Amino acid sequence: MSWFTRKKQNIEKNTKKDLPNDLWRKCSCGEILYNPELEASFSICHHCNFHFPITSEQYQDIILDKKSESLFSDISSIDMLGFKANKSYEEILETVPNNKEAVDCFLGEIEKRKVVLCIMNFKFIGGSMGSAVGEKISKAINLASEKNCPIIILCQSGGARMQEGALSLMQLSKISTHLAKFSNKGGLYISILTYPTTGGVTASFGMQADVTIAEPKALIGFAGQRVIKQTTSQELPDHFQTSEFLKEKGFIDFVVNRKNLKNSISKVLDVLA
Ligand SMILES: [Zn+2]
Repeated sequence: MSWFTRKKQNIEKNTKKDLPNDLWRKCSCGEILYNPELEASFSICHHCNFHFPITSEQYQDIILDKKSESLFSDISSIDMLGFKANKSYEEILETVPNNKEAVDCFLGEIEKRKVVLCIMNFKFIGGSMGSAVGEKISKAINLASEKNCPIIILCQSGGARMQEGALSLMQLSKISTHLAKFSNKGGLYISILTYPTTGGVTASFGMQADVTIAEPKALIGFAGQRVIKQTTSQELPDHFQTSEFLKEKGFIDFVVNRKNLKNSISKVLDVLA
């Protein structure tokens, strides 16, 4: 029985190694996606064509010719109302890195044409529209007007920022007013709607562009589907509040795969800029 005698005592248990958490991702279609492969393919599900949200740095690489001048990065949110719920607004703001906001603005070029590009960032408090977002986008519109170049706003937002109350809602009219002045002077505005574009952004600058482009299968709407269903007591159509549905109804001009985004914008600039 000597073979049965344990030579080493206190053998460690639980030596099984866990796989890293960020190696796989499950798409809403049920497909399990290998993250390095997903990232190499513009974060698009190869099975159902769903476009996963990506960072403003990644969008910059996709849309602009090269890394460009970052604008207004000194503008950041402050807690004007002393908002407190489970977590105070101040505590939430402390957890985000310096100089980060729910929108990043750049002065750059697309196929050697100067543009001002604003990219919203859903990871910053749901891409919500605080006063700093309103100020940065308004300044970006003014700069586009000064430089006599088009402005492009890539939307990715849950809507208003509840921690700023009515001040957040005021940003709708503030940005819309700047866009109206820009448009009256003949400026070209292109908006790109990505997953998700909802609430106040859809109700204002998301839908006010000369040319509105959307990524495939993006959720785009004002109120949530459950609220609409309960209010109207009606069944909602298939693909309700998706890019494809809104294109069919005439709200959106093109639904464009992320891989072809730069090319499509460039074609619009060829014709209209
Ligand atoms: Zn999928």
